[in-house]
Amino acid sequence: MTPTSPLWRPFTQHALEPAPPKIVRAENAWLETESGEKILDAISSWWVTTHGHRQPKIMAAIAEAAGTLDQIIFAGLTHEPAERLARELVALAPEGLAHVFLSDSGSTAVEVGLKMALGFFANRGEERTRVAVLEGGYHGDTIGAMSVGERGVFNAPYAPLLFEVERIPFPAPGAEQATLDALEAAGGRGDLAAFIVEPLILGAGGMKMYGPETLAEMRRIVRDTGALFVADEVMTGWGRTGTLFACEQAGVTPDILCTSKGLTGGAVPLAATLATAEIFEAHYSPDRTKTFFHSSSFTANPIACAAAVANVGVWRDEPVAERVAALSSAQAARIARFEGDPRFRNARTSGTIAAVDLAVPDAGYLAEVGPRLRAFFLSHGLLVRPLGDVIYLMPPYCVTDAELDSLYDAIAEAPDVLGIAR
Ligand SMILES: *Cc1c(COP(=O)(O)O)cnc(C)c1O
Repeated sequence: MTPTSPLWRPFTQHALEPAPPKIVRAENAWLETESGEKILDAISSWWVTTHGHRQPKIMAAIAEAAGTLDQIIFAGLTHEPAERLARELVALAPEGLAHVFLSDSGSTAVEVGLKMALGFFANRGEERTRVAVLEGGYHGDTIGAMSVGERGVFNAPYAPLLFEVERIPFPAPGAEQATLDALEAAGGRGDLAAFIVEPLILGAGGMKMYGPETLAEMRRIVRDTGALFVADEVMTGWGRTGTLFACEQAGVTPDILCTSKGLTGGAVPLAATLATAEIFEAHYSPDRTKTFFHSSSFTANPIACAAAVANVGVWRDEPVAERVAALSSAQAARIARFEGDPRFRNARTSGTIAAVDLAVPDAGYLAEVGPRLRAFFLSHGLLVRPLGDVIYLMPPYCVTDAELDSLYDAIAEAPDVLGIAR
């Protein structure tokens, strides 16, 4: 098919995929196409939309901020939306995170976190440069973020540019000790600067879940080895796993915490990397070479910061925690229908996120089933994008029980329509 648009889309094989529907309006859990069709956004537009599309208070804050400010250089100048946001984040984040560095995306939040960790040891004159990661992790698509993520078809062409990391096996149920032992061994070599991890659930790696006890143990081991613990909460933050940040469930404070997606309620791009006072102080010096050398043109965009401040206000003033708890139970109750169904495996939830694996005959079949599943759901007016054989639902918190029912009914129908034998 010849492209009908000069746009080059993310994660899109233009030779195989049909032209996408054009969205002209978004509200709550719904998207509307130019031909008037409604699509239920069951994946929160790639995991960013938390409360719902165009949350009124967030949109009003954007309009208000745009009335007085646009981008202002953030070295040498400051503005209230950023000042206020930093105070709010420090108050909300796990105790001990005291400094906030603002950037534009989850990937940049991760790059900033890795640079903070390396800078911390360099400024203290310690030879620690290696990074450990969990197998199957995903931390973004820039070169550094890809380096700490799982290797595969998605990044094979760029492998020559990616740096080597220590890979710790995923703590599969019953195999947690192997993970902890491997982490202890990696830390024991004395050259480990940081361990970066998605707390409680590996998102793009297939919605793989592990328990808060394991997260707490990993945190303890990393502290004992003298390395820094970096929590990538880009997906898990802002209620996704049931608590504001996933780390709360393990009672841990990471040395560095990355947040983005839900930071503005998903309305506009913004990211924050939070760090402890110790890490900031390692960069605090009359010696200019110890400066944290990182910036991007749009650092601390005032309009985005105002959106994030409004998001914090929504969390404070509205019963968001109750909505998250209700959605978490609604998901758990519904995904359970696939337990014992031979067409599915491994029904699971982590807070508001539900996932189930499709029992597909083989991996070759799998490559083709993803796009067919997407088309099937779309023909039912549902935006669902399985990760390989993993079907997951991560809707905005405003989704209703009836909307969830329509999603689960479609999942139940999918294997038969696509000809996957019972
Ligand atoms: C999405 C994601 C990222 C990357 O965020 P972008 O905004 O897409 O750059 C990093 N880490 C995790 C855990 C993510 O889910």
